[in-house]
Amino acid sequence: MSLAVTLIMDRDAINRNIENTVSKVAYVLKQYCSDKGCPCNIKQFVYWAGKQQGSGWQDNIQNQLVESSLKLVCFEQIGDCEKSYGLEGSYICNNCGIKWNHFSIEWRMLAFHKRLMKVGADDPGKLYEELISNDVFATVGFEPAGRKTLSLEQWVAFMLGRNLKT
Ligand SMILES: [Zn+2]
Repeated sequence: MSLAVTLIMDRDAINRNIENTVSKVAYVLKQYCSDKGCPCNIKQFVYWAGKQQGSGWQDNIQNQLVESSLKLVCFEQIGDCEKSYGLEGSYICNNCGIKWNHFSIEWRMLAFHKRLMKVGADDPGKLYEELISNDVFATVGFEPAGRKTLSLEQWVAFMLGRNLKT
């Protein structure tokens, strides 16, 4: 979603949109935790929580996914695993033992790129090429073009391995 579009949406619509994202993200995480105890080995989770965001835009669902994941009972904050730009903290999963780094980089005033990446793992962006959500906040002129995007409903289906309905 471009800045221009954001500005003409009324506040209630924005709040409804955010609430909907929060509840859908919580639903996906709850499914993972009831199935496996944690989300750490779900390929879709590894991708969406850890993929790189755009230089002039952010994926709002990714940011929410990272924020909500860090509140899961299985994740516990530990001492930082490395010194890296934007590293906000390191976490260990008490269910499976995997360690995660939480990155948050302010790409423009009060707008952040959030990522949760396994310590020492390859960039997960290659797991699903170019896939992003259609809930994007972008600087005008920097909207991601030519990317495959998923609506919130399609995102839930993708994350849970269900058939995508377009
Ligand atoms: Zn885990």
